[in-house]
Amino acid sequence: MRIDIVTLFPGMVTPVLAESMLGRAQTRGLVDIRVVNLRDYAGGRHRVTDDYQFGGGGGMVLKPEPLFAAVDALRTPGARVVLMDPRGRTFTHEVAAALARESHLILLAGRYEGVDARVGEGLADDAISIGDYVLTGGELPALVVTDAVTRLLPGVLGAEGAAARESFADGLLEPPQYTRPEAYRGARVPPVLLSGDHADGSASRRSSRGWGPAVRASL
Ligand code: SAM
Repeated sequence: MRIDIVTLFPGMVTPVLAESMLGRAQTRGLVDIRVVNLRDYAGGRHRVTDDYQFGGGGGMVLKPEPLFAAVDALRTPGARVVLMDPRGRTFTHEVAAALARESHLILLAGRYEGVDARVGEGLADDAISIGDYVLTGGELPALVVTDAVTRLLPGVLGAEGAAARESFADGLLEPPQYTRPEAYRGARVPPVLLSGDHADGSASRRSSRGWGPAVRASL
């Protein structure tokens, strides 16, 4: 799979992609993630990417031309163009799993007060929100989508089938997990987990959240 992240701030994105599982997945050729500087597709001597909005709303808006030009240059047959947008559909495990079946994602990170509406109307195939709050830009949402999608790709997680056992994959939550020591500050590992291999979670309550009373009380 290929994932392009189109952004005005490549420096926010590139270091995250180089670390840990995302970095290893790329090194192993399981995913091809490219960070694309939107300014490279802006015209004129000053390569301007934003402008005032019609109608007098405060703040700047990303112009359509650089985004259309970037997608024109990056698009492959079957590419899916996804705009990061707090008004988009909410990102969930099901959405991540569907995106992981695509061959090429082009993720567009907005900035400032947002993106010219013609991008959502005539360029993007999809608009995704990572939650009901507003961030300063689409870089973190694009990374969230990239991370969640990449770890669902075949071979990325070490143990075969590991993704299928995780929280949300089957509508349930993963059971609480423990490592050594068996007893710590008065809390013991449940005996059932000490008696064998329960990696499929069948021995524990698969719908329980493993939080203590303080966290549970705050919910
Ligand atoms: N004025 C917009 C509004 O009220 O809906 C918010 C614009 S936000 C400051 C700038 C950019 O950040 C957006 O265009 C989008 O790309 C990204 N963004 C912010 N919050 C997001 C979220 N929850 N999910 C996805 N993208 C988000």
